[in-house]
Amino acid sequence: MSRLDIRIYGDDVLRKKAEPIKQITPELVDLAREMLQAMYDAPGIGLAAPQVGVPIRLIVVDVAKEDETPEPRIYFNPEIAPEEEGENPLIPYEEGCLSVPDVYGDVMRPDRIRLKAQNEKGEWIEERNVCGLLSRCIQHEVDHLEGKLFVDLISAEDKAKNQAALRKLAADQKKK
Ligand SMILES: [Zn+2]
Repeated sequence: MSRLDIRIYGDDVLRKKAEPIKQITPELVDLAREMLQAMYDAPGIGLAAPQVGVPIRLIVVDVAKEDETPEPRIYFNPEIAPEEEGENPLIPYEEGCLSVPDVYGDVMRPDRIRLKAQNEKGEWIEERNVCGLLSRCIQHEVDHLEGKLFVDLISAEDKAKNQAALRKLAADQKKK
């Protein structure tokens, strides 16, 4: 089990803009590995450092299915942009979040993105035409680095549906 605690909706750290990482140290690589463990334990398919109380620009992702070989991905200082070539409309997809338990709603996002980030060795990598669930997950995690949560982006209808659950989560945080 991971010793990291996943922070829940209502915790201020989830609303902070995360700081760029100046140097990728062995300690930060260890943190990324622990985040992956916490994510697998949860279980989830992505986790951003602010979700474990560390407001720095680091995300981890693994969208492999349960019966597939794990594909852990660690991105330091990720930067994303919608892929410009060809049609790339916004599409809806139901999202959830380990920091917002039991709340789900459709979010509109472009299917295809390009990604730049640093790997564990500090090298910059670039990935083009990232699509599908991986793209979706990376966009969701990068939002966390801006202090943004998927519930900010859901429709008014979904917001109304989840309002009581969100209030309860936030109220529980205040009691801590
Ligand atoms: Zn999330």
